[in-house]
Amino acid sequence: MSQTIEEKCIAKGVKLTEQRKVIAKVMAQSKKTYGESDHPDVDELYNRVIKIDPKISIATVYRTVKLFEETGILVKHDFKAGKARYEQLSESHHDHLIDVKTGQIIEFVDSEIEKLQEKVAEKYGYKLVDHKLELYGLKKK
Ligand SMILES: [Zn+2]
Repeated sequence: MSQTIEEKCIAKGVKLTEQRKVIAKVMAQSKKTYGESDHPDVDELYNRVIKIDPKISIATVYRTVKLFEETGILVKHDFKAGKARYEQLSESHHDHLIDVKTGQIIEFVDSEIEKLQEKVAEKYGYKLVDHKLELYGLKKK
């Protein structure tokens, strides 16, 4: 079982204030509520959290996602669109395909690509420890 954001915060010694708890909860439910392609930016996240607690400021949301990112609870993505997008760090790895027109994000895992990347690292005398792959595409008519 994967840890919840709350459990991760406790494990990493991050103090969970009520406001941070709301933000953690909204992020934890992101894909369940909005689908697998959901990778909210701070504005989207802010609009969701104020529905639960209108007293939360956008500055708090900014600070909290930064804190969660630094603690390895959230992952930040820069999908070229200028706005940083966030998702929960998951144990299972996936890569992203981004629709350059609509901004839709598709998550995928391709075992052939995974193997090829290891091969490339090996070729240069490295053992692969991590990678980040982003594909940008236009939907065919
Ligand atoms: Zn993702």
